[in-house]
Amino acid sequence: MHTQATILVVDDSPDNLQVLTAVLKDQYRVKVAINGERALSLASDDPPPDLVLLDVMMPGMDGYEVCRRLKNNPKTASIPVLFVSSRDEEEDEAYGLSLGAIDYIVKPIRPSIVQARVRNHIDLKRSRDLLERLTTVDHLTGIHNRRRFDDYLEAEWKRAVREHEPIALIAIDIDHFKAYNDHYGHPQGDQCLIAVAQALSGAVTRSSDLVARCGGEEFACILPGTTVSGAALVAEQMMQAVAACALEHARSTTHDRVTISLGVTSMVPEPGQDPQTLIDQADAALYEAKAAGRNRFVVRGA
Ligand code: GH3
Ligand code: MG
Ligand code: MG
Repeated sequence: MHTQATILVVDDSPDNLQVLTAVLKDQYRVKVAINGERALSLASDDPPPDLVLLDVMMPGMDGYEVCRRLKNNPKTASIPVLFVSSRDEEEDEAYGLSLGAIDYIVKPIRPSIVQARVRNHIDLKRSRDLLERLTTVDHLTGIHNRRRFDDYLEAEWKRAVREHEPIALIAIDIDHFKAYNDHYGHPQGDQCLIAVAQALSGAVTRSSDLVARCGGEEFACILPGTTVSGAALVAEQMMQAVAACALEHARSTTHDRVTISLGVTSMVPEPGQDPQTLIDQADAALYEAKAAGRNRFVVRGA
């Protein structure tokens, strides 16, 4: 049994809100927002809405900007956005989709079309959410996801404790990726993530090494049985692999190509210690790499 899906309808015209609510209220829980700020606030509710119907032309923050902000916030980035607009030019629609919207409905509203499209997107989202709960693969890049990373780190950490072996972790983050998205658009940003994921995965050699996308533009690599010097070599290879992709980045203040920063760490864990210690150490090293100018790796630990 499904719980009822929640739809957030955003429009500056009370009449339009009323029409859309009437079309959807029998099947869905409907929330309405009369402007962009209110929309962003309702989209951050817990649980978030399952879908957003978003007017394009609104005074103040327009629909494009609302969409951009939703997609730039990891908490709301996966909520499907459907634009509802009276602008039916090809370029308007293409622009809306380039911001990461999943569909574009042209006004005036035809109730049966809106109902059908909303139902399709809700069904798709449900399947995606279910798959997301079951899968260990990152849907965008095809490499391991956060869940697999957590499970593998836990298991390899325990083994390292038992066998008094080192375990290394590399935290990896794309430099100036927000600017990349803003300049090249969200779909191109996704292509960049795919290319970087492939490059990083190709840079490790042992079958026990694991590269995962931990969220957004953040990746991590677990290297069992590896000291910091070994992990630093892998970090070097990762930087070279990303450089070899030669992805143009006109808005980076670091370089004219896409670059990454890395935090490298390794330790021989003691019984009673938590793998979070390793994660914190790698994150701290990554933070240092960012602060020191990006496009580099920083090593912490023995
Ligand atoms: P820094 O060099 O300090 O790492 O800056 P940054 O801009 O890379 O870092 P920040 O964390 O501010 O921005 C991360 C951006 O990643 C925000 C969002 O636009 C983008 N992003 C997150 N997930 C996705 C995704 O799945 N696809 C796309 N295209 N972009 C994403
Ligand atoms: Mg970044
Ligand atoms: Mg980041």
